[in-house]
Amino acid sequence: MDEQKLVCVKCREPLVQGDVTLSYMGSNFPVKLPKCPRCGLVYIPEALATGKMQQVEAALEDK
Ligand SMILES: [Zn+2]
Repeated sequence: MDEQKLVCVKCREPLVQGDVTLSYMGSNFPVKLPKCPRCGLVYIPEALATGKMQQVEAALEDK
């Protein structure tokens, strides 16, 4: 999947990698995600809900 080709569904602006804060299990995690520079819409890949979140949980357990 080529993330460079993602565009905002509202503005049709190309999404840019930006700093996004995810809230998960009561904690905030800074991550880089494709984001619309105009309206701020964040594209969250489906893999994030499965793979990445498991990494987040692992990171939590390390602390
Ligand atoms: Zn937008």
